Amino acid sequence: MTSPPADLLKALIPLKDRMTAWRRDIHGHPELAYKEHRTAARVAELLRDFGFDEVTEGVGGTGVVGLLRQGEGPMLGLRADMDALPIDELNDFDHRSQHGGVMHACGHDGHTAMLLGAALSTAQTRRFKGSVAFIFQPAEEGLAGAKAMIDDGLFDRWPVEAIYGLHNLPGLPAGRIAVSPGPQLAAADKLLIEVRARGGHAAAPDLGRDPVLAGSAAVQALQQIVSRNLSPTETAVISVTCFNAGETFNVIPDNATLKGTVRYFTPETGDMVRNRISDVLEGVALAQDVRITLELQRGYPPTINSAAEADFARSVAAAVLGQENAPVQTPRMFAEDFSFMLQMRPGAYGFIGNGGSPGLHNARYDFNDEILPVGAAYFRGLVEAALKP
Ligand SMILES: [Zn+2]
Ligand SMILES: [Zn+2]
Repeated sequence: MTSPPADLLKALIPLKDRMTAWRRDIHGHPELAYKEHRTAARVAELLRDFGFDEVTEGVGGTGVVGLLRQGEGPMLGLRADMDALPIDELNDFDHRSQHGGVMHACGHDGHTAMLLGAALSTAQTRRFKGSVAFIFQPAEEGLAGAKAMIDDGLFDRWPVEAIYGLHNLPGLPAGRIAVSPGPQLAAADKLLIEVRARGGHAAAPDLGRDPVLAGSAAVQALQQIVSRNLSPTETAVISVTCFNAGETFNVIPDNATLKGTVRYFTPETGDMVRNRISDVLEGVALAQDVRITLELQRGYPPTINSAAEADFARSVAAAVLGQENAPVQTPRMFAEDFSFMLQMRPGAYGFIGNGGSPGLHNARYDFNDEILPVGAAYFRGLVEAALKP
């Protein structure tokens, strides 16, 4: 494993103003999942301006892939996401969203600008042997744009040997990039529970069956799965977040609807938790003499970094930013569709510090432009270290 030059960060500083301008332009024109038409067109236009050997649009909907080729050698994949969120922005700076109800509150504007900066810098210097696929994906926020690109032949058309991505993290100091092996982000499944009972007069509960009581028993029982069935050294979350039943004070309703989320880091934990939820609800239905139907909708799988690629990426971050700026990061319970890419190819998902900004998905969040050269230098460092001429 060879290190990239330590002066990469310095080399990217002159591109900061251009990256900032791209980032703020995208921030001002946010687009929701699979509607990133303006953003994708801008990305493709810029990649062509940078002298890319190939630019392909419309991959998995609105995805864009730019390819740089420099002699024979393996292909490396770098990925950014382009979509915004259905949030009304509360910031009042000049580059605030011009589209009501849509906002870049997860920093995907910054991810796109950072990868564009890396693309420009790598295209200018071409200090690598092989090829690099710069992947700009749609619809990370809940609609699995990464999977749509894979289903559209992403890795057949661009057979990368490894894939790398970055997400900004408020609270992690600016100037740092944390990449660690193993699970980084959780899987997120949706839980939908219908309790069907037989309501009636609240003064005569003996004549019916009570879905409010049964639903409450279900919530209690579900909370014991993690504490009583999961090894204390493993982690999972079951949160019931919605409980709808009844209209008024003197009627026992017929039904109750519960919703929630289930989060975990390994497929084994996911299987165990899902099986226990099903068994526990069967038991509650029997005990309460009601009918309970369960729907578990699988969301994104856990985001799991392969060990060798994570160690490699961390060594690149340390070489580019200094050892003290390449810390280990504890896993988070968010979910990410980069997980689908990591199921297909080895690679690593890292966190780049966004400093002390408001949190992700907050209406006052903004991507920190100071870190644009940091992310771009890291991406170019990955290319130069992985594809050493
Ligand atoms: Zn998000
Ligand atoms: Zn995000």
